[in-house]
Amino acid sequence: MSQTVFSKILRGEVPCHKVYEDDHVLAFLDINPLSRGHTLVIPKEPAVTLDQLSDDAAAALGRALPKISRAVLAATGTRAFNLLQNNGSAAHQVVMHVHFHIIPKHPDGSGLGIGWEPGSLADGANLAAAIASKLT
Ligand code: AMP
Repeated sequence: MSQTVFSKILRGEVPCHKVYEDDHVLAFLDINPLSRGHTLVIPKEPAVTLDQLSDDAAAALGRALPKISRAVLAATGTRAFNLLQNNGSAAHQVVMHVHFHIIPKHPDGSGLGIGWEPGSLADGANLAAAIASKLT
């Protein structure tokens, strides 16, 4: 049985401020929000990272995310937001259960700060072909 805090929330063992639930998806407020309205959207399936998620769970998340984002924006009076999804501790994942962060960006600047240092694409044709050949 999964022992992540999100699995415990799904089982009702840990409380949350729920904003949405369907057969496959639960959404609730982040306990340490980056900004007002910071919401987490998780599959009920206990996958650790996005690449491990079943097609059915992924489809359910894809259906729910825009709907929940619209509600977060409407409730917080915000128009801008980031969708963040971390996979693996090296990529800042702390809770090992797939989750999407919906993080409103407010006029006061609160929200997600991004350090983005772009490089130059090298060997793009070969790399794209290598990735495409691995699609299953
Ligand atoms: P990540 O770094 O992508 O794994 O983010 C995990 C997020 O889960 C953090 O933003 C935490 O604040 C949030 N979190 C951890 N425990 C809880 C909890 N019990 N209820 C709501 N959010 C939580």
